[in-house]
Amino acid sequence: MTTSSEHARGFIPVPTQLQIYDSYRIDPTWQTKFTIIWTSFLALSSLVSIPYIVHSYRVGRLFAGSSIRESDGSFTRRSTPRLAPRKQDTNPIRRSFVGRIHIGVQAMAQSLALWTLPMPSLTWWKGQVGDCCRRAYFTLGISQIVLVLGYMAAVVACFLVGAQLTQNPNRPGFIALSQLPVIILLSLKSPLPLPIFLPSLSYEHYNFLHRWTGRTLFLTVTVHGGMWINQFIKTNQYDQLNAAKSRRGILAYAFMCMVVITSLKPVRRKFYQVFWIAHVMFFTGFFAAISYHTPYSRPWIYPCVAIYAYDLLVRMFRYRIKDATLVPIDDTLTMIHIPDCDAGWLPTQHVLLRVLRGSGIFESHPFTITNAPSTPFSASPRGIMLYAKVSGDWTKKLHTMARDVESFEVGDDIEEKERFLANGTPTVGGLDHPGQRVQVMIDGPYGGLKIDLGEYENILLVGGGSGVTFILGGIEEALRVREKGRGPGKVDVAWVVKDMSTIKALSPTLCHLHALSRRLFLDLTYNLYLTNPPHPLPPVPSILPSTTTLSPYRPEVAQLVREALPLPTPLPGGVSLETGESTSLSGDEQNTRMPHHGLGAGHGGGLAVVACGPEGLVMEAKNAVAGLGVAERVRCGGIGFHGECYTL
Ligand SMILES: Cc1cc2nc3c(=O)[nH]c(=O)nc-3n(C[C@H](O)[C@H](O)[C@H](O)COP(=O)(O)OP(=O)(O)OC[C@H]3O[C@@H](n4cnc5c(N)ncnc54)[C@H](O)[C@@H]3O)c2cc1C
Repeated sequence: MTTSSEHARGFIPVPTQLQIYDSYRIDPTWQTKFTIIWTSFLALSSLVSIPYIVHSYRVGRLFAGSSIRESDGSFTRRSTPRLAPRKQDTNPIRRSFVGRIHIGVQAMAQSLALWTLPMPSLTWWKGQVGDCCRRAYFTLGISQIVLVLGYMAAVVACFLVGAQLTQNPNRPGFIALSQLPVIILLSLKSPLPLPIFLPSLSYEHYNFLHRWTGRTLFLTVTVHGGMWINQFIKTNQYDQLNAAKSRRGILAYAFMCMVVITSLKPVRRKFYQVFWIAHVMFFTGFFAAISYHTPYSRPWIYPCVAIYAYDLLVRMFRYRIKDATLVPIDDTLTMIHIPDCDAGWLPTQHVLLRVLRGSGIFESHPFTITNAPSTPFSASPRGIMLYAKVSGDWTKKLHTMARDVESFEVGDDIEEKERFLANGTPTVGGLDHPGQRVQVMIDGPYGGLKIDLGEYENILLVGGGSGVTFILGGIEEALRVREKGRGPGKVDVAWVVKDMSTIKALSPTLCHLHALSRRLFLDLTYNLYLTNPPHPLPPVPSILPSTTTLSPYRPEVAQLVREALPLPTPLPGGVSLETGESTSLSGDEQNTRMPHHGLGAGHGGGLAVVACGPEGLVMEAKNAVAGLGVAERVRCGGIGFHGECYTL
């Protein structure tokens, strides 16, 4: 049953003897059904996000981090900083009955969202590849798994219901085509003009869906191709295997296999650039081959091209080419200061950075913005501050370039460099290093904190290794909202780091943030943990506040969260703030309720937990929050969570 238009267009139809039902009429209706399913889900998620959008708009976050702006040198400081008076309670509704019910429901949903499956310990898999494989597919939370399974179920149902696959496996091919727009949509980096997905989500948060929808596509095309080949072999039609239509189909499948192989987590982690280039090349090849394999692909390819073009266009408008200074602040950390930026980002968002010098020009890498736009109160320098930890080739080259004070450039501060070289320590880094001027291209900002820190009275920031950049951004965000009269009274930082050198390198920044927090009457405490401690343990750098602690071990994140819980404490007279009943605590109870993180002194004003670092640490934090009792979370006034991993 072939159409004459197909012949006219030169496409090779399915052999007539193998056409059991009018596949070309019935199967497209299943494509429509599948499209209705996923677009309805998007519409629902848009509806669910309305309260979030309204809140973000009201507190000024909705568009605050949409595009970096500069003021062409006309940036002026107001002479007297004006601080908004701080509200006594960040969110008084949480004390009402309805508020508590709301927090309880949210807590249950939160557990579902955050819980991850325990990782199996496969001791016979050793080394990097084994570890990557072991971790690769066990990092999703329960809600993410439900979402993925729901999507897969919809796909499988659409290609199974009423289809006679053993006779005519065309349906999975049709359903594969209708999956293309959703896969491309989920690969977008640019924010969408509609509140599609919760608007706080950025590409790195829904990237897992892109990966799983891609895997589902692979499954679908495998069923389609595999069953046709089986059909040809069973009916002794070997000539069909060599027919042009089949050859084009096999070519498309080969491209798809290459996409899958080069996207495997070990490849992605070890050779990110190879993965990226292969992804673009093979997917383009897949589109070309598929459009010759069947004319029915064209209506699905056009929307994909349109979506991708939209992404490129929006990114083009957000690109900025800027001067930047690279400063090696220790042996492995490079500070990147981009001065000519005044607004349009939120701390904790990230930009894709491309350095327009050297061989790294062809690569762009994501780095977190650690500072808020300068205000009269912060009196910090204009611009964006990034920190890049040496991790692989590109970050190593960046660090080497930053150290290279010998290569003076026109426009560099030559006097400063000469003074530095005269000291005879050109290989040493540090904040007094004159730095290297380069031009950079920034794309963004993207992502950032999903929760509004202004809603919580207590904050726990847990960072591992280079995840400290997100923690610095988190402190800046807390100060920013506090300056506006909202937000936390207490911020606890737990930074787990390998050795002292990075702590020393970042001490001036930590000290500056602490000074600002004191001016805002914000209680900011640093608790530093060394995973590779020297013996004997060195003292805390003297520049850091006296409340800073240094411990020679990796802490249990669950313990940190538990200690930071702002459970309502009894009034000195022994009266509970919650119930008004007399409830004095024994000395022992007081000791366990009032450890040094969080002091247990909150009054149910809510706790925001932010974790950033290696996947293991973030998963630990997720499970720690998910494992708290619902009643406990209600008593604390609700717990917000944001987790960030620096790997895709
Ligand atoms: C949202 C986000 C924010 C980040 N913020 C910081 C930060 O503030 N400070 C910091 O030191 N590091 C940060 N990183 C990590 C940093 O981007 C990588 O360390 C860097 O790209 C490594 O490049 P490389 O070639 O030197 O090392 P490689 O050995 O090539 O890569 C090391 C790891 O980084 C990942 N990676 C490499 N290139 C990219 C890329 N273009 N996009 C995404 N991941 C990539 C790889 O998967 C690999 O796991 C962030 C990563 C992400 C995803």
